[in-house]
Amino acid sequence: MIVNNLYIENDTLFFGGHSTVDLAEKYGSPIYVMDEQKIRENCRKYVNGMKKYFGDNAKPFYASKACSFKRIYNIVESEGMGVDVVSVGEIYTAFKSGYNMKNVCFHSNSKNDYDINFAMDCGVGCFVVDNVEELDAIDCFAGERGIKQKILFRVTPGIDTHTYEAVNTGKVDSKFGFPIETGAAMEITKYALAKEHIDLAGFHCHVGSQLFESSVFIRSAEIMLQFIAEVKSTLGYEAKELDLGGGYGVRYTENDPTIDIEDNIRQVAEYFKKKCSELNINEPAVSMEPGRSIVADAGITLYKVGNVKRIEGYKNYVAIDGGMTDNPRYALYESEYTVIAADKANEPCDFLCDLVGKCCESGDIIQPKVMLPESIQRGDLVAVLTTGAYNFSMASNYNRIPRLPVIMVNGDESYVAVKGETLEDIISRDI
Ligand SMILES: *Cc1c(COP(=O)(O)O)cnc(C)c1O
Repeated sequence: MIVNNLYIENDTLFFGGHSTVDLAEKYGSPIYVMDEQKIRENCRKYVNGMKKYFGDNAKPFYASKACSFKRIYNIVESEGMGVDVVSVGEIYTAFKSGYNMKNVCFHSNSKNDYDINFAMDCGVGCFVVDNVEELDAIDCFAGERGIKQKILFRVTPGIDTHTYEAVNTGKVDSKFGFPIETGAAMEITKYALAKEHIDLAGFHCHVGSQLFESSVFIRSAEIMLQFIAEVKSTLGYEAKELDLGGGYGVRYTENDPTIDIEDNIRQVAEYFKKKCSELNINEPAVSMEPGRSIVADAGITLYKVGNVKRIEGYKNYVAIDGGMTDNPRYALYESEYTVIAADKANEPCDFLCDLVGKCCESGDIIQPKVMLPESIQRGDLVAVLTTGAYNFSMASNYNRIPRLPVIMVNGDESYVAVKGETLEDIISRDI
């Protein structure tokens, strides 16, 4: 099985030690199911790996856009993770969960005055600044409060990661951050150092997602450290922090490689230490920002089959009771997923079909060309694996379909971490 918390017993798929058939019986369908122990295990790889190889002042931040609800913030906080947020909605969720806002890092390439003030009122520890307008606004609002706001600059190291265009963010022409190559990053650093209410802690970069080895991190560490050394010699300012961004990959299917996170951190750290001494700069405190690799394989989605359509000589469809409203990722990026008949998990899979949703949209496909048992029929339970990241957080109410609950399993226990939307919720904002 692609993840170590999945196994099959008597034809039934088990997840985090729980029968998926029992979970669907108890909580209904469709549902997201997440495994708290798996989330914790994923956090520990980063927390322990970074401390071990980068030293005690290194810290991983959970990129909470991958999956944001109150309970998640409590779980990652208890594992010693900081968090990244990208909107006031995520800030508010973290704040209301009781998360220590000092350990929150606020991203986004377009923060308006309301966003900046809201973040400051909540005590957000650090802003990752994307543009000069934002810097001026932060300086102004920090001045009004009589504080110095800690920031990092988002810098684009100019790396093309050869990943999918939409998740490729480190190139010079990216909409995110200040390019090093054009001199913009140096210029803004000089400008910021003269600002009274700005505490520039260092630099941030993020070059891509779903990366399975460390060469890209090593390459961006090289460029960023070189830049830090240049800033030191040009401006006499030495960065105290360097954020290397997010992005180690997860296994959506058997074709994706497995990755040893701790060993990859070791490789980056080894290079980092060597480079710092070569450039004769103090080692900045390093942070990383894993999102999907914290939650993706800690989640599955359970659906019931509504109908099976065999179009002789063409193709077959298995339609389920959810769709692009709970998982838009195939529609958006043609993302791959592993699909299992959760109540017929040991039957041979000889039926080629497209797993499709219930939305009024031909593109509402969860996954094309999947193999399921020939006997699959209305009422059967289907599990889509590795849906813990960018599913719940990207869900919509298209067709006025209520969003799904999140059921958390934790050892022998299970609990509702997020309630499902009701029909009353759907109309609650209508006048
Ligand atoms: C999305 C994002 C991440 C997390 O990426 P994953 O692929 O989910 O690990 C980290 N940092 C930044 C700045 C991001 O935008």
